[in-house]
Amino acid sequence: QSAISIRGLEKTYAGGKQALRGIDLEIPRGSMFGLLGPNGAGKSTMINILAGLVNKTAGRADIWGFDITDHPRNAKASIGIVPQELVFDAFFTPFETLELQAGLFGVPKAKRRSMELLRAVHLEDKAHVYSRTLSGGMKRRLLVAKALVHNPPVLVLDEPTAGVDIELRQQLWDYVRTLHAQGTTVVLTTHYLEEAEALCDRIAIINNGQVVANDLTSVLLSTA
Ligand code: ADP
Ligand code: ADP
Repeated sequence: QSAISIRGLEKTYAGGKQALRGIDLEIPRGSMFGLLGPNGAGKSTMINILAGLVNKTAGRADIWGFDITDHPRNAKASIGIVPQELVFDAFFTPFETLELQAGLFGVPKAKRRSMELLRAVHLEDKAHVYSRTLSGGMKRRLLVAKALVHNPPVLVLDEPTAGVDIELRQQLWDYVRTLHAQGTTVVLTTHYLEEAEALCDRIAIINNGQVVANDLTSVLLSTA
């Protein structure tokens, strides 16, 4: 059974840019799946459609069995998205950010859940400072925690280590591996081959709005 099943997905932006030209993709439950491709390939467009932020032009995308392109709210419980941009609540503390998110999702014991997540991403020392004072890597980890508040079965990270320095990148990778080991299906986009190679059991290569390869990492890289 697929965690995410994408069929004939197309996106043409207002202005005529055809960002997705018929994507077909099955992302198996329990996988750690990489969407690899150069800038402008269409990766963020795909993620933003899954997140309900961008409307499709045609096709469908099922998450955990429901097409979310017609009813984006169906995705709410099943998916957590870590956006590429470090957009967050600058004048809220990390603790408040998570508590608010927990409230939005009706997560019980919001305060306890928020502290648990801050510990998981090693931000407990920063729980009560303004989020705008955090480093780039800390902001990224806060966004990971925020995406996980409602314990979604699928976690999608858009360029998770963009702007994150080397040591923090390693920490972030370790944490994503832990989540995967605990049963979360993980999908990440990257334009770094090394990142996909280090983390992912399967890789789809996206170019010019199309899937041009899709295989086990070991198979894909042995023929590359
Ligand atoms: P949708 O059809 O999903 O509503 P739009 O085509 O309306 O999306 O685009 C959303 C906004 O992003 C528009 O205001 C557009 O001007 C802006 N935009 C245009 N080109 C780009 C680009 N290359 N990257 C990011 N945003 C862009
Ligand atoms: P990637 O994430 O792989 O870098 P994107 O999905 O961001 O690729 O972009 C795919 C193509 O669509 C690019 O040519 C980009 O400029 C264009 N694009 C992205 N967002 C918008 C938008 N909102 N409006 C118009 N064009 C866009």
